[in-house]
Amino acid sequence: MTTDRLPVLEVDLGPGVRAGFTTRAGGVSPSPWDSLNLGLGVHDDAARVRANRRRASTWLGRSVRFSTQVHGTEVVVLDREPADGGPGDADPVDTVGDADALVATGASAVGLGVLVADCVPVLLADAGSGVVATAHAGRRGLADGVVPAVLRSMAAAGADLRSVRAAVGPAVCGACYEVPATMRDEVAVARPATWSTTSWGTAALDLPAGVAADLEAAGVASVERTHVCTVEDDRWFSHRRATRSGATTGRFAGLVALAPA
Ligand SMILES: [Zn+2]
Repeated sequence: MTTDRLPVLEVDLGPGVRAGFTTRAGGVSPSPWDSLNLGLGVHDDAARVRANRRRASTWLGRSVRFSTQVHGTEVVVLDREPADGGPGDADPVDTVGDADALVATGASAVGLGVLVADCVPVLLADAGSGVVATAHAGRRGLADGVVPAVLRSMAAAGADLRSVRAAVGPAVCGACYEVPATMRDEVAVARPATWSTTSWGTAALDLPAGVAADLEAAGVASVERTHVCTVEDDRWFSHRRATRSGATTGRFAGLVALAPA
Protein backbone atom coordinates (compact mmCIF):
# COMPACT_ATOMS: atom_id res chain seq x y z
CA MET A 1 0.00 0.00 0.00
CA THR A 2 2.58 2.55 -1.08
CA THR A 3 -0.18 5.06 -1.84
CA ASP A 4 -0.94 5.19 1.89
CA ARG A 5 2.25 7.23 2.04
CA LEU A 6 0.95 9.78 -0.46
CA PRO A 7 2.09 13.10 1.07
CA VAL A 8 -1.15 14.97 1.76
CA LEU A 9 -1.78 17.97 4.01
CA GLU A 10 -4.70 16.52 5.93
CA VAL A 11 -7.42 18.69 7.49
CA ASP A 12 -10.11 17.80 10.04
CA LEU A 13 -13.63 18.49 8.78
CA GLY A 14 -15.41 16.35 11.36
CA PRO A 15 -15.98 12.72 12.32
CA GLY A 16 -16.21 10.33 9.40
CA VAL A 17 -14.85 12.85 6.88
CA ARG A 18 -11.54 12.40 5.02
CA ALA A 19 -10.11 15.65 3.64
CA GLY A 20 -6.81 17.12 2.59
CA PHE A 21 -4.67 18.86 0.01
CA THR A 22 -2.30 16.88 -2.17
CA THR A 23 1.24 18.09 -2.80
CA ARG A 24 3.46 17.70 -5.87
CA ALA A 25 4.91 14.49 -4.45
CA GLY A 26 3.87 10.87 -4.82
CA GLY A 27 2.86 10.68 -8.48
CA VAL A 28 4.14 9.34 -11.80
CA SER A 29 4.41 12.47 -13.99
CA PRO A 30 7.82 13.80 -15.12
CA SER A 31 8.96 17.44 -15.05
CA PRO A 32 7.36 20.01 -15.40
CA TRP A 33 4.35 18.14 -13.91
CA ASP A 34 6.42 16.37 -11.27
CA SER A 35 4.98 14.40 -9.98
CA LEU A 36 1.38 14.13 -8.71
CA ASN A 37 -0.26 16.20 -11.45
CA LEU A 38 -4.03 15.66 -11.17
CA GLY A 39 -5.05 18.08 -13.94
CA LEU A 40 -6.03 17.02 -17.43
CA GLY A 41 -5.64 19.85 -19.95
CA VAL A 42 -2.17 20.99 -18.88
CA HIS A 43 -0.49 18.96 -21.67
CA ASP A 44 0.52 16.09 -19.39
CA ASP A 45 -0.18 12.56 -20.65
CA ALA A 46 -3.79 11.59 -19.79
CA ALA A 47 -2.82 8.06 -18.79
CA ARG A 48 -0.36 9.44 -16.23
CA VAL A 49 -2.96 11.88 -14.89
CA ARG A 50 -5.47 9.03 -14.51
CA ALA A 51 -2.84 6.96 -12.68
CA ASN A 52 -2.23 9.90 -10.34
CA ARG A 53 -5.98 10.31 -9.82
CA ARG A 54 -6.24 6.64 -8.84
CA ARG A 55 -3.64 7.29 -6.15
CA ALA A 56 -5.73 10.22 -4.93
CA SER A 57 -8.85 8.00 -4.86
CA THR A 58 -6.98 5.36 -2.88
CA TRP A 59 -5.89 7.95 -0.32
CA LEU A 60 -9.45 9.26 -0.10
CA GLY A 61 -11.06 5.82 0.14
CA ARG A 62 -13.59 6.80 -2.54
CA SER A 63 -13.48 7.17 -6.31
CA VAL A 64 -12.80 10.90 -6.77
CA ARG A 65 -14.79 13.11 -9.13
CA PHE A 66 -13.46 16.29 -10.73
CA SER A 67 -15.23 18.92 -12.84
CA THR A 68 -14.05 21.06 -15.74
CA GLN A 69 -13.40 24.36 -13.97
CA VAL A 70 -14.40 27.48 -15.91
CA HIS A 71 -14.08 30.32 -13.32
CA GLY A 72 -17.85 30.47 -12.87
CA THR A 73 -20.37 29.84 -10.10
CA GLU A 74 -22.13 26.68 -11.38
CA VAL A 75 -22.53 23.84 -8.88
CA VAL A 76 -22.94 20.16 -9.79
CA VAL A 77 -24.71 18.04 -7.16
CA LEU A 78 -23.93 14.31 -7.06
CA ASP A 79 -26.65 12.53 -5.10
CA ARG A 80 -26.82 9.02 -6.49
CA GLU A 81 -24.41 6.17 -6.90
CA PRO A 82 -22.55 6.19 -10.24
CA ALA A 83 -22.53 3.23 -12.58
CA ASP A 84 -18.79 2.68 -12.24
CA GLY A 85 -17.04 1.33 -9.19
CA GLY A 86 -14.70 2.40 -6.43
CA PRO A 87 -11.11 3.57 -6.18
CA GLY A 88 -9.83 0.48 -8.00
CA ASP A 89 -11.86 1.29 -11.08
CA ALA A 90 -9.63 1.10 -14.15
CA ASP A 91 -11.38 3.88 -16.07
CA PRO A 92 -12.73 6.57 -13.75
CA VAL A 93 -14.83 9.47 -14.97
CA ASP A 94 -12.57 12.33 -16.16
CA THR A 95 -15.07 15.11 -15.48
CA VAL A 96 -18.66 15.49 -14.29
CA GLY A 97 -19.10 18.60 -16.44
CA ASP A 98 -18.40 22.35 -16.42
CA ALA A 99 -18.61 23.63 -12.85
CA ASP A 100 -16.48 25.32 -10.22
CA ALA A 101 -18.18 23.71 -7.25
CA LEU A 102 -19.28 20.17 -6.44
CA VAL A 103 -21.62 18.83 -3.76
CA ALA A 104 -21.94 15.13 -2.89
CA THR A 105 -24.39 13.43 -0.56
CA GLY A 106 -23.81 10.13 1.21
CA ALA A 107 -25.92 8.37 -1.42
CA SER A 108 -23.42 9.28 -4.16
CA ALA A 109 -20.66 7.13 -2.63
CA VAL A 110 -18.02 9.24 -4.41
CA GLY A 111 -15.32 11.66 -3.27
CA LEU A 112 -14.80 15.16 -4.63
CA GLY A 113 -11.74 16.98 -5.90
CA VAL A 114 -10.92 20.57 -6.82
CA LEU A 115 -7.88 21.33 -9.00
CA VAL A 116 -5.66 24.34 -8.41
CA ALA A 117 -2.22 25.90 -8.84
CA ASP A 118 -2.62 29.33 -7.09
CA CYS A 119 -6.45 29.65 -7.05
CA VAL A 120 -8.06 28.80 -3.71
CA PRO A 121 -9.25 25.22 -3.10
CA VAL A 122 -12.13 25.14 -0.61
CA LEU A 123 -13.25 21.95 1.14
CA LEU A 124 -16.55 21.75 3.04
CA ALA A 125 -18.35 19.11 5.05
CA ASP A 126 -21.36 18.73 7.31
CA ALA A 127 -20.55 15.40 8.91
CA GLY A 128 -23.96 15.18 10.58
CA SER A 129 -25.99 15.29 7.37
CA GLY A 130 -23.32 13.56 5.27
CA VAL A 131 -22.93 16.36 2.74
CA VAL A 132 -19.47 17.29 1.41
CA ALA A 133 -18.45 19.91 -1.14
CA THR A 134 -15.58 21.57 -2.96
CA ALA A 135 -15.18 24.99 -4.54
CA HIS A 136 -12.59 26.48 -6.89
CA ALA A 137 -12.22 30.14 -5.97
CA GLY A 138 -10.11 32.16 -8.37
CA ARG A 139 -10.39 35.91 -8.72
CA ARG A 140 -13.45 35.87 -10.98
CA GLY A 141 -15.36 33.01 -9.33
CA LEU A 142 -14.80 34.49 -5.88
CA ALA A 143 -15.96 37.95 -6.98
CA ASP A 144 -19.03 36.44 -8.68
CA GLY A 145 -20.01 34.45 -5.58
CA VAL A 146 -18.89 30.82 -6.01
CA VAL A 147 -18.60 30.44 -2.21
CA PRO A 148 -22.20 31.49 -1.38
CA ALA A 149 -23.35 29.43 -4.39
CA VAL A 150 -21.83 26.19 -3.09
CA LEU A 151 -23.17 26.87 0.42
CA ARG A 152 -26.70 27.33 -0.98
CA SER A 153 -26.40 24.00 -2.82
CA MET A 154 -25.13 22.28 0.34
CA ALA A 155 -28.12 23.60 2.29
CA ALA A 156 -30.50 22.45 -0.46
CA ALA A 157 -28.92 18.99 -0.23
CA GLY A 158 -29.67 18.85 3.50
CA ALA A 159 -26.62 20.42 5.17
CA ASP A 160 -26.95 22.71 8.19
CA LEU A 161 -24.56 25.62 7.53
CA ARG A 162 -24.08 26.16 11.28
CA SER A 163 -22.54 22.65 11.38
CA VAL A 164 -20.42 22.97 8.23
CA ARG A 165 -16.67 22.90 8.66
CA ALA A 166 -14.48 24.42 5.97
CA ALA A 167 -10.81 24.34 4.98
CA VAL A 168 -9.14 27.02 2.85
CA GLY A 169 -6.17 25.38 1.14
CA PRO A 170 -2.79 26.38 -0.29
CA ALA A 171 -3.08 29.33 -2.71
CA VAL A 172 -1.25 32.46 -3.82
CA CYS A 173 -1.19 34.78 -0.80
CA GLY A 174 -2.16 38.42 -0.51
CA ALA A 175 1.50 39.51 -0.39
CA CYS A 176 2.32 37.74 -3.71
CA TYR A 177 -0.78 38.13 -5.93
CA GLU A 178 0.00 41.39 -7.73
CA VAL A 179 -2.78 42.85 -9.89
CA PRO A 180 -3.43 46.23 -11.54
CA ALA A 181 -4.83 48.74 -9.04
CA THR A 182 -8.07 49.03 -11.02
CA MET A 183 -8.58 45.25 -10.78
CA ARG A 184 -7.97 45.30 -7.03
CA ASP A 185 -10.64 47.99 -6.69
CA GLU A 186 -13.15 46.10 -8.86
CA VAL A 187 -12.80 42.85 -6.90
CA ALA A 188 -12.79 44.65 -3.54
CA VAL A 189 -16.18 46.21 -4.32
CA ALA A 190 -17.67 42.70 -4.36
CA ARG A 191 -15.34 41.12 -1.79
CA PRO A 192 -13.77 43.82 0.48
CA ALA A 193 -11.59 41.33 2.39
CA THR A 194 -9.52 40.69 -0.76
CA TRP A 195 -8.00 44.20 -0.82
CA SER A 196 -4.27 43.75 -0.30
CA THR A 197 -0.76 45.02 -0.99
CA THR A 198 2.23 43.00 -2.20
CA SER A 199 5.33 42.66 -0.03
CA TRP A 200 6.93 45.16 -2.44
CA GLY A 201 4.14 47.73 -2.01
CA THR A 202 1.96 47.38 -5.13
CA ALA A 203 -1.73 46.53 -5.55
CA ALA A 204 -2.67 42.94 -4.73
CA LEU A 205 -5.58 40.63 -3.96
CA ASP A 206 -5.85 38.28 -0.99
CA LEU A 207 -8.13 35.54 -2.32
CA PRO A 208 -7.90 33.23 0.75
CA ALA A 209 -9.01 36.15 2.97
CA GLY A 210 -11.96 36.76 0.63
CA VAL A 211 -12.98 33.10 0.80
CA ALA A 212 -12.73 33.04 4.60
CA ALA A 213 -14.84 36.21 4.86
CA ASP A 214 -17.57 34.67 2.67
CA LEU A 215 -17.61 31.49 4.77
CA GLU A 216 -17.78 33.41 8.04
CA ALA A 217 -20.52 35.72 6.72
CA ALA A 218 -22.63 32.65 5.86
CA GLY A 219 -22.37 31.37 9.43
CA VAL A 220 -20.16 28.35 8.71
CA ALA A 221 -19.22 26.71 12.02
CA SER A 222 -15.46 26.59 11.59
CA VAL A 223 -13.00 27.83 8.98
CA GLU A 224 -9.50 26.36 8.98
CA ARG A 225 -6.88 28.18 6.91
CA THR A 226 -3.68 26.42 5.87
CA HIS A 227 -1.84 29.73 5.31
CA VAL A 228 0.39 28.06 2.71
CA CYS A 229 1.42 30.28 -0.23
CA THR A 230 1.81 28.24 -3.43
CA VAL A 231 4.12 30.83 -5.03
CA GLU A 232 6.50 30.79 -2.05
CA ASP A 233 6.37 27.06 -1.19
CA ASP A 234 7.44 24.82 -4.06
CA ARG A 235 5.95 21.70 -2.48
CA TRP A 236 2.81 22.81 -4.34
CA PHE A 237 2.23 23.60 -8.02
CA SER A 238 2.07 27.33 -8.79
CA HIS A 239 0.93 28.72 -12.13
CA ARG A 240 2.49 32.12 -11.33
CA ARG A 241 5.85 30.65 -10.34
CA ALA A 242 5.94 28.45 -13.46
CA THR A 243 4.96 31.30 -15.78
CA ARG A 244 7.83 33.44 -14.46
CA SER A 245 10.27 30.84 -15.77
CA GLY A 246 8.31 30.32 -19.00
CA ALA A 247 7.18 26.82 -18.05
CA THR A 248 3.88 25.01 -17.70
CA THR A 249 3.01 23.15 -14.52
CA GLY A 250 0.63 20.66 -12.96
CA ARG A 251 -2.39 20.92 -10.69
CA PHE A 252 -2.75 19.68 -7.14
CA ALA A 253 -6.10 18.99 -5.52
CA GLY A 254 -8.24 19.50 -2.50
CA LEU A 255 -9.98 16.20 -1.77
CA VAL A 256 -12.97 15.45 0.46
CA ALA A 257 -15.20 12.42 1.04
CA LEU A 258 -17.24 10.67 3.65
CA ALA A 259 -15.25 7.74 4.97
CA PRO A 260 -16.70 4.45 3.69
CA ALA A 261 -18.88 2.78 6.35
ZN1 LIG B 1 2.94 34.50 -1.06
